[in-house]
Amino acid sequence: MNITTKLEMNNGKEIYQFGLGVWRGGEETKNSVLAALKAGYRHIDTAAAYKNEEAVGEAIRESGIAREELFITTKLWNQDMRDHKVKEAFELSLKKLGLDYVDLYLIHWPVKGEYINSYKVMEKLYESSKTKAIGVSNFKVHQLKDLLENTDIVPAINQMEFNPQMQDNEILNMCTEKGIILEAWSPLGSGACLEDEALKVIASKHNKSVAQVIIRCLLQKGIVVFPKSVHENRIKENSNVFDFELTFEEIELINNMNKNLRTGPDPDTFNF
Ligand code: NAD
Repeated sequence: MNITTKLEMNNGKEIYQFGLGVWRGGEETKNSVLAALKAGYRHIDTAAAYKNEEAVGEAIRESGIAREELFITTKLWNQDMRDHKVKEAFELSLKKLGLDYVDLYLIHWPVKGEYINSYKVMEKLYESSKTKAIGVSNFKVHQLKDLLENTDIVPAINQMEFNPQMQDNEILNMCTEKGIILEAWSPLGSGACLEDEALKVIASKHNKSVAQVIIRCLLQKGIVVFPKSVHENRIKENSNVFDFELTFEEIELINNMNKNLRTGPDPDTFNF
């Protein structure tokens, strides 16, 4: 396993298992993407709602890296679903990124009464090859079941909050069973998992940081992970996870840390 290890999605296309998240990257986004690309990252996770697609696009262009070497994800925002402006929102994201296509387009949140119709428009975008894969984010079992029953294309990805204190194994198992890759958002619990004493013990055994242990654990579980940092040293640190291996027992220990404790909203009750 290394920084450009890929997983095959259910449509035959590949996704890098490791990448950079840019939520709340703010004005630092461009530099953080450039630092990540320099460190060997090739996968960037953004969203229309992060308001930094332009900065991501600028960094991509400035890096000089060939487009086909990169994997770029963006996401459809809730209000665009409510306004029935899926195609327009997608085109605007492409324009802001300065790209002809994205590698993955996701529904950001399962807006009740809207996500089926929105996804049907995304199926058309996928057929036009302007996005190489489509998927969802924040879909619990009942929402994913509903989507699968009412649409044609099985999502390639479901992106969920997943970290040591928040492990929804019901959705992980359903995704595995349906051939949908799980992506972990807030893999470090937005920082909340980094002071855990048991994780510190594992980290010191491997001469690694807690962040590195968590990232490595998710990778060994076959989950896609894109920790966020805007600091070059942490960007490098977070990618320095390919020279050690956690034991089965250590992964079991981390599996048992689940508290079903979210740092973000519950997909059943969010209201934005
Ligand atoms: P994260 O779990 O990756 O944690 C990031 C925070 O942890 C940083 O802001 C920093 O404070 C700290 N950190 C990072 N590396 C560190 C290190 N090596 N040492 C010490 N501290 C470190 O947080 P996140 O940004 O919430 O999640 C990652 C990405 O997931 C986002 O950037 C975004 O791309 C995606 N995301 C998606 C959704 C969604 O609804 N689909 C929601 C939240 C996040």
